[in-house]
Amino acid sequence: MKLLVLIGLIIAVETHQFLVQDEQSLRNDMVRQQLEARGINHDATLDAMRKVQRHLFVPPQYRAQAYADSPLSIGHGQTISQPYIVAYMTQLLDLKPNHRVLEIGTGSGYQAAVLAEMVNEVYTIEIVKELGQQAEKLLDSLGYANVTVIIGDGYKGLETKAPFDAIVVTAAPDEIPPPLIKQLKDGGKMVIPVGPPAAVQTLILMEKQNGKVVETKLTPVRFVPFTRSQ
Ligand code: SAH
Repeated sequence: MKLLVLIGLIIAVETHQFLVQDEQSLRNDMVRQQLEARGINHDATLDAMRKVQRHLFVPPQYRAQAYADSPLSIGHGQTISQPYIVAYMTQLLDLKPNHRVLEIGTGSGYQAAVLAEMVNEVYTIEIVKELGQQAEKLLDSLGYANVTVIIGDGYKGLETKAPFDAIVVTAAPDEIPPPLIKQLKDGGKMVIPVGPPAAVQTLILMEKQNGKVVETKLTPVRFVPFTRSQ
């Protein structure tokens, strides 16, 4: 009996210690164990991943898993990507502080916040109104004044703010939408998962060099489908 009480006490103390381990140290661990250990080495990306409070971008019931090595559901059939995928895609964009970036697929707003830590101007388009509005509110409350959330179909990109230094797409279309290729600056980079819905897609790095489009196939990925408005 005494032993049981003792074990109970130890479990209670351990649990408490886990809960009070602050989010900053969870993020530091995430960066070390999930990102640096797998070869992410772009300083600005690592700094942003250490800074953005991912637990605020996931639904309350998943908060305890916010820094786990996995994607999480954010409602409306959508997901926030695994931290490694966010960092990998961000690193590929080779961002500079003066860049203007377009994201298609705002979702929770997490990727937009990571971008906003690194560049001057972020535009992010979300097709599900509720998600876009929720992300906009959260990003505002966190002081990300350099992010503009637009509700709409990202297929068309954002002509009024083009061209972009970088474009990142976080839902998978069957092919790269031509308007996005057009709206990428010469010398710019786009990272996009391409392939059939509900299957494995390929992450593609598309670069525009002297008006020519160069595509590099990178790695198999699984993203939610890129949907179109009616
Ligand atoms: N970047 C997000 C991940 C969101 S998942 C994050 O950090 O949380 C992909 C998102 O793309 C979903 O919210 C989905 O609704 C959105 N989406 C799918 N097709 C779209 C389209 N044509 N235009 C804009 N958003 C789209």
